[in-house]
Amino acid sequence: MDLKQYVAIVPDWPKPGITFKDITPLMANGEAYKYATDQIVTYAREREIDLIVGPEARGFIIGCPVAYSLGVGFAPVRKEGKLPRETAKVDYGLEYGKDTLTIHKDAIKPGQRVLITDDLLATGGTIEATIKLVEELGGVVAGIAFLIELTYLDGRSKLDNYDVLTLLEY
Ligand code: 5GP
Repeated sequence: MDLKQYVAIVPDWPKPGITFKDITPLMANGEAYKYATDQIVTYAREREIDLIVGPEARGFIIGCPVAYSLGVGFAPVRKEGKLPRETAKVDYGLEYGKDTLTIHKDAIKPGQRVLITDDLLATGGTIEATIKLVEELGGVVAGIAFLIELTYLDGRSKLDNYDVLTLLEY
């Protein structure tokens, strides 16, 4: 299946010069969403994943159906102030300024094999921060899966030591 036909390309959004890849048409199409999910499920099965971890909000959209299909759990990574119990935190750089991602401290058992999911790899900052959180809690990053990779932003260079799946490249 050609998944690219379900990604809407939106010029100059959220600001001039950025070309946003909108995955909502893919999510809205049951066959396309299932097809994309199944590819990631196959990848996860081969890596004997115990737990899925994804950053808000689109990491949930990719990761939760994979977790359901595998019969494993899902742990959310969220912006600071959203998770109600004790968290681990990491700051990461944005184009302007910084942001903080958090995860519940008891979300991962040491040694668990984790698959990290997100919709899109751009500069890699979000995923790098998510990896730090997983590793800080003793999880093993056994795979990282994205729907889309923007190869021209070279986020991959931050992921040299990891096993990465991307379904679509731009
Ligand atoms: P990075 O941290 O790799 O620079 O940016 C990736 C994060 O920003 C992902 O969590 C992703 O959801 C979001 N993101 C950045 N650009 C796009 C885009 O064009 N489309 C979508 N769907 N998400 C984007």
